[in-house]
Amino acid sequence: MLENPYITLFNHQKNNRFKVGNTTYKARLKKLKALRHAIEVTYKDKIRAALYNDFKKPELEVDLTEIYPVVSEIKFVSANLKSWMKRQKVETPMALLGASSWVTYEPKGVCLIISPWNFPFNLTFGPLVSAIAAGNAVVLKPSEMTPHSSKVMADIVADIFTEDEVALVEGAVATSKALLQLPFNHIFFTGSPAVGKIVMKAAAEHLASVTLELGGKSPTIIDKTANISKAARKIAWGKFLNNGQICVSPDYILIDETVKDAFISEIKAHLKTFYTAHAEQSSAYSRVVNEAHFDRLQGYIENAQQLNATIEVGGTLNKAERFIAPTVISNLPEEASLLQDEIFGPILPIKTYKTIAEAIAYINTKPKPLALYIYSKRKQNTNYIIKHTRAGTTAINNNVLQYSNHYLPFGGSNNSGIGKSHGFYGFEAFSNRRAVLKQHTKGATEFIFPPYTNIKQKIVD
Ligand code: NAD
Repeated sequence: MLENPYITLFNHQKNNRFKVGNTTYKARLKKLKALRHAIEVTYKDKIRAALYNDFKKPELEVDLTEIYPVVSEIKFVSANLKSWMKRQKVETPMALLGASSWVTYEPKGVCLIISPWNFPFNLTFGPLVSAIAAGNAVVLKPSEMTPHSSKVMADIVADIFTEDEVALVEGAVATSKALLQLPFNHIFFTGSPAVGKIVMKAAAEHLASVTLELGGKSPTIIDKTANISKAARKIAWGKFLNNGQICVSPDYILIDETVKDAFISEIKAHLKTFYTAHAEQSSAYSRVVNEAHFDRLQGYIENAQQLNATIEVGGTLNKAERFIAPTVISNLPEEASLLQDEIFGPILPIKTYKTIAEAIAYINTKPKPLALYIYSKRKQNTNYIIKHTRAGTTAINNNVLQYSNHYLPFGGSNNSGIGKSHGFYGFEAFSNRRAVLKQHTKGATEFIFPPYTNIKQKIVD
């Protein structure tokens, strides 16, 4: 059997783990500050250029969805790390009288972060911030589908960290598989549920803990009380940002049948305002990441046409440009691939319902989503929907933005993910909660020692 090519790197990190793991609050902060400076200043233009070269991502979207989230995560972590690193005192029950107890957060050790291509910087450096804050050594494996971004990230990492602190390994599936054979202490994976299962199986071999940030079909319910124009505007943004290649983008709409036509005419108008009638020429509209994904998405549109669905907006494609116009499709039968697969592209299917109970029943036939969105003016309706469905995250009268609140845990549930990230939850994901009990005085536990006679006397003594 060939030796794993990454074993030397792993052992190198592991042997220095004690050094890395014992980094002080100040040392961790210093590294985070250097990372922030690299992203915000030294490499900013290179990051923008890399994302443009990878999938024509507009500069403002790069600033907003790649640079800003990492910088704001660093700011948030820096402001709170001191208190997170402090021992957290907990109660000690009367039965353990004479002892005190606390929880201390210690680094897990050597961690692997595998990331996807759709927000290459954000989803590689975001978890890295949490891992560094928690004091770990890290191997990063970004996606092979955004090679320009991976190259810039490799340069940044080499500039700021030594190899025993953070190493970035570029490569595709074979590289990822070779890394997964190594006995990491924690694996943080962001990607599809199918690969999430492969990661979890590999982790089981070493009993490594995992955080799995996965995807799936995120529904959006619009009831008849909703402000239709505002809902359409927010959905037009949340769905077509990054060309629909967002894990929390609204995957499909479930709308009260009485307001469907109004919604379609509103979303048409907003899409025209956002991207003009010729989105291909709009500098605000990015592209599908590669040809394989383009073909997959084209297949969905063709399948919808064969099933006589209605293309309400868009539907035009240009393979050479990997361009798909912002597309809205209604009247789809249930077997349509757009209603079965996670879309992950600029196509929005619309399904109608007669009652909210019917919408809920439909959602509950599918795996628990990463995000579930509700547009409604009736509190009873939003509460009812939340109570009768399960999801990793929810936004009411908005979408996508729940991702950017550091105070909220981010992550899915079962098929859409295991574990949480962001802010304290990210720090926690990369830490072991070590439980400590300290005995101060003789206390009430003397009776546990044999011989089991004269118990009363032992306690009094
Ligand atoms: P993917 O699962 O195909 O790939 C993710 C990473 O895993 C890449 O680095 C890739 O090289 C590696 N990989 C792929 N196949 C592998 C295999 N067989 N063995 C080991 N490693 C392998 O996902 P993707 O296409 O890059 O991203 C899209 C998916 O990610 C969607 O399902 C989306 O919803 C999800 N996603 C989730 C989040 C989240 O935060 N929950 C964020 C972004 C994307």
